Amino acid sequence: MVEKLAGQGVTDKWVLAAMGHIERHCFVDTALAGQAYEDTSLPIGLSQTISKPNVVARMLELLRGDTPCKLGRVLEIGTGCGYQAAVLSHLASEVYSMERLRGLHQRAIENLRFLRLPNVHLLYGDGTAGYPRGAPYAGIIAAAGGQSVPSAWTDQLAVGGRLVAPVLTPAGGQALVLIEKSPGGLKKTVLEAVSFVPLKSGLS
Ligand code: SAH
Repeated sequence: MVEKLAGQGVTDKWVLAAMGHIERHCFVDTALAGQAYEDTSLPIGLSQTISKPNVVARMLELLRGDTPCKLGRVLEIGTGCGYQAAVLSHLASEVYSMERLRGLHQRAIENLRFLRLPNVHLLYGDGTAGYPRGAPYAGIIAAAGGQSVPSAWTDQLAVGGRLVAPVLTPAGGQALVLIEKSPGGLKKTVLEAVSFVPLKSGLS
């Protein structure tokens, strides 16, 4: 999978190494394990999906920017099955990952139990409010897309930090958005079209 990603243009050695460390097949149903290394999104239960490997890699590259080392604290919105949180554990000093569906939060705990990743903190909660206790974050990454980027996220982003999230476009699609926070303010860049599950409020 890592060779395929490199062939598709993923160049960040940190991202490639982190994705090489985590076995994607351990995060999907046994019946789908055969497809785990194909470039496809897969169902993880409760109508949610684990993103395609090249979308995960692309977002992690954007999150890292040209950082020459590990990132500091990172907030992930949408733990899902915990795959991306596990990959992030190799890229950040601490990973705070929030999930609003209790069933998936529990599933992620089980999936990550045997990996023993002490720097990953799985949180059951509505990520639209972020997680102020871990702020400020060097990076914030969302796996679910809403109308706009919640202000709580940009408030909790450190100066020098980067935020990557899918956001609805006026045409009704979704685009990946990169927000960089500098002492001068926020710089927003709208990137390619993507297809993520919706960012929803409240718990379930
Ligand atoms: N990164 C995940 C992908 C999960 S799909 C993985 O590797 O498996 C996106 C997830 O975002 C879903 O599980 C969905 O329940 C969750 N989600 C949607 N809105 C949310 C919110 N407001 N707070 C936290 N999680 C949310």
